[in-house]
Amino acid sequence: MNIKEKLVLYSRLAWDRKLTESTGGNMSARDGDNILITPTTVIKHFLIPNDIVTLAPDGTRIGGWRKASSEYRMHIEIYKKCPDVGAIFHAHPVYATTMAVKQQPFPVNALPETALTLAPIAYLPYRMPGTDEFATAFDEGLDMGARTFVLQNHGVTVAGKDIDDAYAKLETLEFLAQIALLSGAKPGYLEIPTEDILRFLEHVLGKKIVDYEPHEWLK
Ligand code: 13P
Ligand code: ZN
Repeated sequence: MNIKEKLVLYSRLAWDRKLTESTGGNMSARDGDNILITPTTVIKHFLIPNDIVTLAPDGTRIGGWRKASSEYRMHIEIYKKCPDVGAIFHAHPVYATTMAVKQQPFPVNALPETALTLAPIAYLPYRMPGTDEFATAFDEGLDMGARTFVLQNHGVTVAGKDIDDAYAKLETLEFLAQIALLSGAKPGYLEIPTEDILRFLEHVLGKKIVDYEPHEWLK
């Protein structure tokens, strides 16, 4: 399976697993210096490889017949700033978007797996979708090392080292939102104590963690 086929498969999976709705959300992956991205306003369940658009690093369309996602600026901005990022999923999952509308922070330390996969989470203020301001709102969080973003009154964006990693982050974030809303867990309440989380992360990652900050608010 090539990268284009894999991007289609995982984008369809995201829609089929209710991780995004209707024509909402957009997904991309690096392909060498270029970026493969979903087209605008398409129901992801019906995506086929021929729909995928290829963009040059500056956002110019160099392949495909459809119009690229309206959020291509956000994707370009994240790839430009983060050489470690190989794939990006932006989506509107029901529970995580509910938290984003309520401006309810995620209890990322409620489960060892969510701390490992998602922290730190950056919370971005509302910006008009599809604009340069929306794209550059990610800069500060990216510089802090966040790869998980909750977008006030909109949805979520996750960046991973590859397509599997980005998809796993998206599904884990929606899972955490469901657990938070069902359990009433909030940051500092019903979470695993930070020292236990640090011990777990250091064990799994095999390195000392300094300045652990699981939640970052950006305004
Ligand atoms: P596109 O259909 O243009 O990708 O936009 C969907 C979306 O989620 C906008 O924020
Ligand atoms: Zn969106």
